Amino acid sequence: MKDQEKKTYSKQFSEEELKAKLDSESYHVLREKGTERPFTGQYYLNKDTGIYECKVCGNGIFHSSKKYDSGCGWPSFTEPLSKDAIDVKMDYSHFMIREEILCGQCGSHLGHRFPDGPKDQGGIRYCINSVSMDFKKA
Ligand SMILES: [Zn+2]
Repeated sequence: MKDQEKKTYSKQFSEEELKAKLDSESYHVLREKGTERPFTGQYYLNKDTGIYECKVCGNGIFHSSKKYDSGCGWPSFTEPLSKDAIDVKMDYSHFMIREEILCGQCGSHLGHRFPDGPKDQGGIRYCINSVSMDFKKA
């Protein structure tokens, strides 16, 4: 492990709690910063109205009104539910420089953000793994 900025998140979970709560794919993505295969995610094509929550802690992270069809293979959003809903960290893994998106409450890995979102909606694409989220239909 490289030195990383240690941030204390308001919600903390033990490994036992996490393993009991999450299936193995969700655990891999949320806690080991994995990525689900594109075009396979449960919420990729979801167009229902509601709130997307962090699967670990239930923190509301995105609203369906900010979801758009980016064609990238993962659920994509133009902005989070609130500024504090998420945390952003630089990610230098896989020979790329990316901005990692983490849950603002528990620090679990959600996805990445890229500067190629719709120009008329801020120009940012939040690219989020379906398995990182639960969807609460309105
Ligand atoms: Zn969380």
